[in-house]
Amino acid sequence: MIDLWYKDAVFYEIDVKTFQDSNDDGWGDFSGLIRRLPHVASLGATCIWLQPFYPSPLKDDGYDVADFYSVDPRLGSLGDFVDFVREARERGLRVLIDLVVNHTSDQHSWFQAARANPRSPYHDYYIWSKTKPENSEEGVIFPGSQQAIWSYDTAAGMYYHHQFYEHQPDLNIANPAVRDEICKIMGFWLELGISGFRLDAAPFLGGKPDEDGNPAQQLFEHLEEFRQFLSWRSSSAIILAEANVSLNEMPKYFDHGPQLHMLFNFLMNQRIFLALAREEAEPIAELLRELPSRKETGQWGNFLRNHDELSLDRLTDAERDEVFAAFAPEESMRIYGRGIRRRLAPMLQGDRRREELAYSLLLTLPGTPVLRYGDEIGMGDDLSLPERLTVRTPMQWSPEKNGGFSNADPGRLIRPVVMSSDFGFDKVNVATQDREQDSRLSRMQHLLHIRRKCPEIGWGNYQVLPGCHRSVLAHRCQWRRSGLVAAHNLSGQPVQTLIPLEAGETLIEIAGNRPHQEVPEPTRIELEAYGYRWFRIQGDNWQSV
Ligand code: MG
Repeated sequence: MIDLWYKDAVFYEIDVKTFQDSNDDGWGDFSGLIRRLPHVASLGATCIWLQPFYPSPLKDDGYDVADFYSVDPRLGSLGDFVDFVREARERGLRVLIDLVVNHTSDQHSWFQAARANPRSPYHDYYIWSKTKPENSEEGVIFPGSQQAIWSYDTAAGMYYHHQFYEHQPDLNIANPAVRDEICKIMGFWLELGISGFRLDAAPFLGGKPDEDGNPAQQLFEHLEEFRQFLSWRSSSAIILAEANVSLNEMPKYFDHGPQLHMLFNFLMNQRIFLALAREEAEPIAELLRELPSRKETGQWGNFLRNHDELSLDRLTDAERDEVFAAFAPEESMRIYGRGIRRRLAPMLQGDRRREELAYSLLLTLPGTPVLRYGDEIGMGDDLSLPERLTVRTPMQWSPEKNGGFSNADPGRLIRPVVMSSDFGFDKVNVATQDREQDSRLSRMQHLLHIRRKCPEIGWGNYQVLPGCHRSVLAHRCQWRRSGLVAAHNLSGQPVQTLIPLEAGETLIEIAGNRPHQEVPEPTRIELEAYGYRWFRIQGDNWQSV
């Protein structure tokens, strides 16, 4: 019996160093995170995804790992990590951790050994060239912040490959010894009680992409090797792949070979924002019709915002401009020529109706929702910070000093807490919203509470309902004898729309943005401006509510 817990989970992304400081040094840590676990559990999340907490020079916020087998001492110890995993489990929370193995920090002992001695076994852990490769300035991932994908190392007297920043030399995944190391890393953390990995930069794990930027042929063999190892060690552990890939590429991650468990749905992410900008349903509806079917073991990870930029690279230039105009009108809000470096609430100008609409969409779209810390209270961003740090500010717990994140002097904080007028911690924080029955936090808790009673969304088949008003996305999900219809009005105008049902079916409302109303027959329902309603399908073939 395969354990498919992730198909009906709610993920919550946390960065330990910006979540809660316990020892007044200005850095979040595992002890602080343990203290805040009741918040995560009571929200309704079922699995925590931890961003990198490994020792790191933090030139890329921890995605530059200097030691895969340890905890950054500023965040705690391995003992604290195990305490955290245990405490999380006691509260019904699984833990996923970031596995960042496309590259290491240039401070990693492997790279230091590799550059110092070409005869070191670690030399072939990296990708070298004695001469400067052609087109070494092409294919950079962070245009404007990254100059090339090959750099010269004076100690080695050679060029090394780095798909990302210069301080992140790529591991030579084609080397079997490197793949053995990756498996060993996975095995280590699995023994400490985690439930799997968010696989960073998955499309690059085949080695250097070809000249057209396509993944190397070996990619799926490598992914299969990692997935098989994982399954041998733990039957219920999963890999959630970070792979911003086209419709054609998607099935390759799920099918035959690698059979990865989850794939972030970057295409859906971008279509959601196009639909919100246009106030029309078609961008989402079209993608829902086009998405490849998921195998029984495969699942989408849906998200609105995460710790990175909101990449719009899969939209056309004209579509991207529409989203920019709506949600990032100023140049300082954009990044890398393709993305937006803002959190959701400020993008939507603090309009709670649109925020709730967006989260309701996220929770009802086929797949597993992935929330980011601070989403639940409508946290803002800090555009004065460089690159993607804008959306990585400390969690806002209370109106007290430093938003309750830390007792350290504000100048010692790892990053400033947001203090701008509309989204400052004095106005946007957990403690205040805990007191209010109709706060963003309360609404999110309520929606997650209902979502967890709707397994058909994560497990089931889905269908976009035809013939609705153009601003309305209505879709149905069904699994075994349980069925759900969700209707979302993306426009700022109230609408009425027909919901087509099979003979003998009726609807009973289970959630919405306004007090419950009886559903008339035929099912012509009303939706307020930016309104949403969820219904259970009733009838002879369906379970009762
Ligand atoms: Mg601390």
